[in-house]
Amino acid sequence: MTALETAANDEGGRCSEPLTHDFGPALEALERRFPGRLARGEAIRRQHANALTFHPAELPDGVVWPASTQEVAEIVAIASAARMPVIAFGAGTSLEGHVNAPRGGICVDFSRMDKIIAVRPEDLDCTIEAGVSRRRLNQELRDTGLFFPVDPGAEEATLGGMAATRASGTTTVRYGSMRDNVINLTAVLASGEIIRTARRARKSSSGYDLTRLLVGSEGTLGLITELTLKLYGVPEHIVSAVATFATLEGACRATTAAIQCGLGLARIEVLDAVQIRAVNQYSKLALEETPTLFLEFHGSPAACAQDLETFKDLGDGEGMTSISSAADEDGRRKLWRARHDALWAVKTVYAGRQVLVTDVAVPLSNLSRAVSETAEDVVRSGLVAPIVGHVGDGNFHAILAFDPTDPAELKRIEAFLERLVARALALDGTATGEHGIGQGKRRFMSDEHGTAIAAMQAVKTALDPLNILNPGKIL
Ligand SMILES: Cc1cc2nc3c(=O)[nH]c(=O)nc-3n(C[C@H](O)[C@H](O)[C@H](O)COP(=O)(O)OP(=O)(O)OC[C@H]3O[C@@H](n4cnc5c(N)ncnc54)[C@H](O)[C@@H]3O)c2cc1C
Repeated sequence: MTALETAANDEGGRCSEPLTHDFGPALEALERRFPGRLARGEAIRRQHANALTFHPAELPDGVVWPASTQEVAEIVAIASAARMPVIAFGAGTSLEGHVNAPRGGICVDFSRMDKIIAVRPEDLDCTIEAGVSRRRLNQELRDTGLFFPVDPGAEEATLGGMAATRASGTTTVRYGSMRDNVINLTAVLASGEIIRTARRARKSSSGYDLTRLLVGSEGTLGLITELTLKLYGVPEHIVSAVATFATLEGACRATTAAIQCGLGLARIEVLDAVQIRAVNQYSKLALEETPTLFLEFHGSPAACAQDLETFKDLGDGEGMTSISSAADEDGRRKLWRARHDALWAVKTVYAGRQVLVTDVAVPLSNLSRAVSETAEDVVRSGLVAPIVGHVGDGNFHAILAFDPTDPAELKRIEAFLERLVARALALDGTATGEHGIGQGKRRFMSDEHGTAIAAMQAVKTALDPLNILNPGKIL
């Protein structure tokens, strides 16, 4: 049975099976240490398994809510003594089965570690606990004139979860991803030891870069409890624009040209015609149903106006059919709401179908080829799979809506996913630009990394010799 067929036949994953591990004594020890903060009921365990994706839910044996780094260290020490898996949980918005518990264990929910410890406008940085959400951080920063830019579509995603998945989003083209914006981390290792990966200096040549090692480690190397993040001044002026194109390829070529020209783009996103149709229905808009770029320019009013003019010239050369812009906040917010609602739009418009969202990334010069070949593949395979992309980074998603009871369609999707990744790798790209590996993309790791896998495995074994931290993910 393929992974998708398993998913389609899921009747509750691990929950419907008897528990295969006896972590009872360790759970009782946690219950005694954290009275009222350990839950073992099925509904809570299910909420903490893989809620948003097609992967079958595999439930942890319990969920615990720590309130400090020290408490996380105590939880890990108890788990380690019992060889019990520990699965860190932010908001559960990851998309590749990251928070599933295939071997049971304890889920560590960071939602009570939500303190903003320090905001330092003079250094343009802040230190926060791992359970703070991106939305809340920006609300708290509102009066400072600063903001944190990394913007995955899911606003409730926590900064700890975003660091753990090396998340990025619509503004990465200008401000970088979590990889670029974490200055240091406090983490609890599998040994129960607490480490701080670096000081607060913006640059350092001192020692191995443990910050970058933990960013993107998906809870398999350590539990992140605090983060120091870069902040940015709110831009003086923002202009948004919507540009329609005759072809998807033209929209992608215009993107590549705009980046190569160094325009002051803070966002540039593509939506294909099928996705625009879904967004129109869901968000009650009347956008022309054709390949469309959503753009945002940051800078001075004069620089934004100049960049918009230059983009118009580039677009004209690539089959742009219209462009409209807005500088007022209401217009901009509505426009970007439509972009962020892309996944929910597909889920609603294709209600009754299962939805699978996947992403790949390629070097910019290969973007239009990768996207247009993927779009042709969707049509040839007879699939519903709108294409949406953070194209300024060479990153795009296919949002597949399919009938989980149709084995022939499931097989076509499996084959499509294999080709999508093979195409990205052949173009010197990656199996995932931002969603991560989790359970879903492990099968592509050796194709992408070759002999480097052994070095990754050595790091994992050195830091987590008992393999208790989020087992069954990445490697
Ligand atoms: C509508 C929608 C749009 C999305 N768009 C984007 C996008 O544009 N870009 C993008 O990058 N992602 C996107 N995602 C995916 C998702 O939002 C990100 O993966 C996000 O970073 C996960 O954060 P979380 O707090 O929900 O983490 P979770 O899902 O709870 O956890 C994710 C992983 O991180 C680990 N983890 C969580 N907290 C910690 C911690 N404190 N310490 C160590 N490990 C931890 C978990 O064990 C798990 O492996 C989207 C998801 C949705 C639903």
